[in-house]
Amino acid sequence: MENKFRFYNTLTRNVETIVPHEDGKIAMYTCGPTVYHFAHIGNLRSYIMEDILEKALRYVGYDVKRVMNITDVGHLSSDADTGEDKMLKGAKREHKTVMEIAQFYTDAFFSDCQKLNIKRPDVVEPATNCIQEFIHMIEVLLEKGYAYEAGGNIYFDAGKLDDYYVFSSAVEKEQLQIGVRDDVEEDTNKRNKNDFVLWFTKSKFEDQALKWDSPWGVGYPGWHIECSCIGIKHLGEYMDIHCGGVDNIFPHHTNEIAQSESFLGHKWCNYWFHVHHLNDKSGKMSKSKGDFLTVSLLESKGYNPLVYRLFCLQSHYRKPLEFSYEVLDNMTAAYNKLVKRISELKMEGGVDAAAFADYKKQFEDALCNDLNSSMALTVIYDLLKADISDETKLALVKDFDYVLCLDLIEAAENLKNESSNVDAELESFILEKIEERAQAKKAKDFAKADAIRDELLAKGVAIKDTREGVKWELV
Ligand code: AMP
Ligand code: ZN
Repeated sequence: MENKFRFYNTLTRNVETIVPHEDGKIAMYTCGPTVYHFAHIGNLRSYIMEDILEKALRYVGYDVKRVMNITDVGHLSSDADTGEDKMLKGAKREHKTVMEIAQFYTDAFFSDCQKLNIKRPDVVEPATNCIQEFIHMIEVLLEKGYAYEAGGNIYFDAGKLDDYYVFSSAVEKEQLQIGVRDDVEEDTNKRNKNDFVLWFTKSKFEDQALKWDSPWGVGYPGWHIECSCIGIKHLGEYMDIHCGGVDNIFPHHTNEIAQSESFLGHKWCNYWFHVHHLNDKSGKMSKSKGDFLTVSLLESKGYNPLVYRLFCLQSHYRKPLEFSYEVLDNMTAAYNKLVKRISELKMEGGVDAAAFADYKKQFEDALCNDLNSSMALTVIYDLLKADISDETKLALVKDFDYVLCLDLIEAAENLKNESSNVDAELESFILEKIEERAQAKKAKDFAKADAIRDELLAKGVAIKDTREGVKWELV
């Protein structure tokens, strides 16, 4: 098929046309959540934009297979391999086992995804399912000379690679090489600053809850190995698109490439898609910061989760986005206005095939142009204003919503039903009051009759006595 989808590839630092390894098919991988706590709405910004990417690729005709890992073991709380295990930290906090914590927060994650209309990837694989695959990859890396044993742990030897800092420009590479961070405790087992642990048997944390037997002793995997293994397990030796938030670029994705390409002996993934962060006024949102914003918190304040989805789609994935309740209020008004506008459309006039094709092309072009989701939304506003039949408009909105997933047609239907329910309720109330007033008049209780007339007027209903009986109208 014709390849015309373009996005910014972090690897080449260019907006590029995606040419998949196999014609018409896309092998796509998403770094999944670390399930020691709820996902915050920043994490979910990344997942919303990756969801739109997947749906846009399907919309233009690709057969997409998408894989996501669940980090339920071995993710440390700092970039240094000496950090604290986040899963264990969660278990201690909630007096549960590590596996109970993982299950609870995995379910919570997918429940948030459902509320935001984020599709579940075709394959979802927890890291703890793949320990044998991790061990196999580490064995091969040792055999090939890319890994070494020191102090009871197995390390990847970054010094063996000519181009370890694949994502960085020449200047950045130099800075990364000299920039030793003060807050990171030096691991004296490492041969090079950027070596990282593939398998731990000795760590600072003797109370590690989950451990497995391995050729190097009882222990657990390092942070990065899972994405390489799970990706290769389900997508084969060639991956087309790998996604994540920008914080994943270094060291996580850099280390994934180092391991995978050393293991496979060839290039692994051609296109890297990274979503910029959602920030609040105090800076980047982070799970370890204590209080953080979740979908449930937004719901408890009365916000529709799909309004948050719209908020994300209104901005480009390559720009940082700042969250505030004021902006979310404005987005709520925008969403409601859009839904109201759609609810006023009638199934009339037939579908104009030429107009349909024209707007569909505009919508596709916006998506293919570096996933310009806000431009795609603008096409909806444009077509609603256009001089085309209501039926064409409805058909287009329905078609676009396969990608946008804002439930526009459903919300418009609900609004219509709600207003007709309100009408029916109001009408029976008015008729009841008119009858009550007639009884009052009959009993010569004119004060009560007048009071009923005023009560109705206060509700915007005027009544008139005519020869044919009492008539009412909304004023
Ligand atoms: P984690 O559960 O911490 O492994 O993160 C899950 C995903 O969210 C990763 O792809 C991160 O890069 C991404 N992420 C983390 N913080 C933010 C943020 N503030 N805004 C957008 N994405 C984020
Ligand atoms: Zn990953």
